[in-house]
Amino acid sequence: MKILSVVVPCYNEEESVELFYTELLKQEKCFREKELELEIIFVNDGSRDGTVSEVKKLHERDKRVRLVSFSRNFGKEAAMYAGMEKAKGDYVVLMDVDLQDPPALLPEMLSYMEQGYDSVATRRVSRKGEPPVRSFFARLFYRLMHKISKTEIMDGARDYRLMTRQMVEAILSMQEYNRFTKGIFGWVGFETKWLEYENVERARGETKWNFWKLFLYSLEGITAFSTAPLMFASLMGVLFCILAFALILFTIIRKIIFGDPVSGWPSLVCIISLVSGVQLFCLGIVGQYLAKTYLEVKRRPIYIIKEEL
Ligand code: UDP
Ligand code: MG
Repeated sequence: MKILSVVVPCYNEEESVELFYTELLKQEKCFREKELELEIIFVNDGSRDGTVSEVKKLHERDKRVRLVSFSRNFGKEAAMYAGMEKAKGDYVVLMDVDLQDPPALLPEMLSYMEQGYDSVATRRVSRKGEPPVRSFFARLFYRLMHKISKTEIMDGARDYRLMTRQMVEAILSMQEYNRFTKGIFGWVGFETKWLEYENVERARGETKWNFWKLFLYSLEGITAFSTAPLMFASLMGVLFCILAFALILFTIIRKIIFGDPVSGWPSLVCIISLVSGVQLFCLGIVGQYLAKTYLEVKRRPIYIIKEEL
């Protein structure tokens, strides 16, 4: 019999754990038909509520439920990585605990795997129930990424994805500290089938992402999968050098012809402030990449486990 590992990152989700378990087990018949043994790994990402005790309760009832508990909140990326590392399955699926990744899609996903795909991924075609500003910036982000990165990152892609052991191993081999899984999935390649579905709203509890967190996460995505901003900084540098050179010529010639050294102060101030602004901006871009490099070379572990069941 083959094993299907379900990896579920949880952060302050005491209300959702049990509900998720019940919903997932509704697909049990399908798992049995396909001769799949189930393994459910709840990764507790440093929750401060009763998430751990909820998972322990399930573990008492059902030994297929496993718990990996972090020493603090390391973020969803770290939780997914830990779950994949601990999973024993021939197939591994990543799912949110809030039921925004409907378990009802699993039978269809599994049947595509039988057809020989290495991975079945999902994307939402609508963003119903999401604040419009958030949707707008999300779309903008995907359009930008499409332009500046060679790695394919799908608009509306979820982390809800079923993969073969081979693909999971490939993902695990990417041990970078600044993780942007949506990009990593694309980077490792393999044959992927995309399923589309309408957005489902969170069953219980609240989202862990505010606008600012998402914004920072999108910067993570850009620096992790594109060096275009660095190229942009260099181009700006070249552009302003050419401009400065032209201005120098202009000033010298004007001095020779009119000989007026004092006028031109306003334009000077404008130019200085513009150029120093651009300089700082470009320095900032370089700084972003340097900061990422700094964190990478420290080789810190992606997560630290406090407890495991
Ligand atoms: N999550 C996590 N660590 C975090 C934030 C979120 O493990 O620091 C989990 C969370 O418990 C949920 C999933 O990641 O299972 C998706 O989070 P959420 O539903 O808040 O994100 P959204 O669906 O709103 O994008
Ligand atoms: Mg959610």
